[in-house]
Amino acid sequence: MERRDYELIVIGGGISGVAMAHLACGSGMRTLLLEKQPRLGGCLHSHAAAGGFWVEMGAHSCFNSYGRLIDVLKRCGLQDRLIARRKMSFKLYAGGALRSIPSCLSFTELLTHLPRLLTARKQGQTVRGYYEAIVGPKNYARVLGPALNAVLSQPADRVPAELMFRKRSRRREFPSSFSLPGGLQALAEGIAAASGCDTLLGVTVGEIRRNTNGYVLSLADGRQLHCRFLCLATPAGAAASMLAGVHAALAGQLARVRHGMIESLAITLRRGDVRLGDIGGVIGQDEPFYSAVSRDVIENDAYRGFTFHFKPGLLDRERKLACIARVLGIDPARSIDIHETVNTLPCPGPEHLQWIGETTQPLDSLPLLLCGNYFAGIAIEDCMSRAHEEFARLDRLAGRL
Ligand SMILES: Cc1cc2nc3c(=O)[nH]c(=O)nc-3n(C[C@H](O)[C@H](O)[C@H](O)COP(=O)(O)OP(=O)(O)OC[C@H]3O[C@@H](n4cnc5c(N)ncnc54)[C@H](O)[C@@H]3O)c2cc1C
Repeated sequence: MERRDYELIVIGGGISGVAMAHLACGSGMRTLLLEKQPRLGGCLHSHAAAGGFWVEMGAHSCFNSYGRLIDVLKRCGLQDRLIARRKMSFKLYAGGALRSIPSCLSFTELLTHLPRLLTARKQGQTVRGYYEAIVGPKNYARVLGPALNAVLSQPADRVPAELMFRKRSRRREFPSSFSLPGGLQALAEGIAAASGCDTLLGVTVGEIRRNTNGYVLSLADGRQLHCRFLCLATPAGAAASMLAGVHAALAGQLARVRHGMIESLAITLRRGDVRLGDIGGVIGQDEPFYSAVSRDVIENDAYRGFTFHFKPGLLDRERKLACIARVLGIDPARSIDIHETVNTLPCPGPEHLQWIGETTQPLDSLPLLLCGNYFAGIAIEDCMSRAHEEFARLDRLAGRL
């Protein structure tokens, strides 16, 4: 049986795992990145639709407030490849029509509630508690609530307000919102390639055992891998399953993280087949979708693309296409590409901040690192921050600090 030794093995090739592999390789650690899909990126998933035109199935944008990410991109020599996303407004789809957001707001209610912004505190509040107080219940129900659900691609009401819109300083020398040619998946692929870590795609970890030197991983194809440190950078549920036989209490803790699914469908059409003017996207009010994000933000003369992020389990493909036809006023039969995927995102409730403390404290002395979007927040920069925190702990454990 083939046996290979690594100082660090990272399971999960989304941005969290790629960031950890980059940091470890940069510090000279012999590192292996394992991913079960045949591609890197996880929720950074760019689908090549037609003639060089791509659509995003998961995340759409990075921002110049993502300082940790920008530092990594600079170290990988990717900063010159960034392309700016044009600023374009979103519309609300409400009552069977596309409406501008201001036209759906009650300004009287807004004016009477907005002064509360001066004294409002996010600590201990849910998203709904905090934002409803600032914009008023009607404005929250009609506009801001659906907009925040669209930001998270999840019901946002019960999420701790502290996890939403963290204050971060902007790097003005970079575009305010950016992507890469080919889409955001190229970001994960570019970081991994520049880092030079060993990578295995399309592999499934069968069993994880612990021994005196670290961990032993048995892959489904019979290979055995040994490592001194192990990093799990998968959704919490997948990490829970993999750790059940080796760290049962921690696995139980990870299994408590609530997750939701998002069914995403992207449709690409020739420019002439869409009458609707260029648009940033659409937010659904009482609709089966959270948002429809447009590709118009990156200019293309030939094609237009729209990714609808649907609530799970409500519509089959035919009904999704009928919904898209209704919202965009297009004929799906004229599309040149349709692509579907399912994403998983954490959906934390008010108990989550306490959960983070309870989970991270016992980890302290274990040669096990946990990265992902179920700690400080789901934004790509939150994943980068968590990877940096865990890398600092790895440095301590490895006795290098
Ligand atoms: C629709 C949508 C829109 C979003 N928009 C934005 C946005 O515009 N800006 C932003 O900042 N953030 C956005 N996000 C959030 C952000 O994209 C994610 O939170 C982040 O990319 C998650 O990265 P991750 O590496 O932690 O997890 P993931 O991307 O989920 O990666 C985990 C990886 O682990 C792999 N894996 C799972 N189980 C195993 C296993 N047993 N063995 C090996 N590998 C395994 C998976 O295949 C996956 O590749 C969006 C997310 C979604 C879904």
